[in-house]
Amino acid sequence: MADHSANHDAAVTDNFALPGVPDAFDRLWTPHRMAYVAKGQSQVTDEASCPFCAAPQRDDETSLIVARGTTCYVVMNLYPYNPGHMLVCPYRHLPDYPDLTIDETAEFAQLTQIGMEVLRDVSRAAGFNLGMNQGKAGGAGIAAHLHQHIVPRWGGDGNFLPIIAETKNVTATIGEMRTMIADGWATGTERFLTKQQDNTPGC
Ligand SMILES: [Zn+2]
Repeated sequence: MADHSANHDAAVTDNFALPGVPDAFDRLWTPHRMAYVAKGQSQVTDEASCPFCAAPQRDDETSLIVARGTTCYVVMNLYPYNPGHMLVCPYRHLPDYPDLTIDETAEFAQLTQIGMEVLRDVSRAAGFNLGMNQGKAGGAGIAAHLHQHIVPRWGGDGNFLPIIAETKNVTATIGEMRTMIADGWATGTERFLTKQQDNTPGC
């Protein structure tokens, strides 16, 4: 029988502990809300039981996917730390960042960069937290399938987030955010590519 005690949940979920995180962050990153699946990663034993492998096999709206690349895709986090919280995942079921090929690494980074541009457009994000929890000991909720968090931040967001996170409409909010972000993806990509041209030496 599954162990649903608080300690168990804390052990298997993304608490996203990073060095040098300010105090307000601790209140924001509440571990018990962060299990991507109800029973934690003990449920993810292989690709067949992995939600990050399953998501791309359904339509974007059902899976809350905002963008698909060649090797990686971007999906809304079902249990967001903040509205607009996204995850960048490789299609391949692999746990470790060094496992990515050069091409996968490039697209993984590019989708993260575009995701930031889009969040600036659609939600006026003032800052971001980016990162990966590597391995169960590193706090990964689903350690078996690599995923990078993109979390938009606003000044003082630690104060109102617990209220947002407790509302019953959070699923609808995620769906609305998915639509806004998916609709804004092309514009964000254009701006990203323009910046790339401007920043390329010799152009
Ligand atoms: Zn997977």
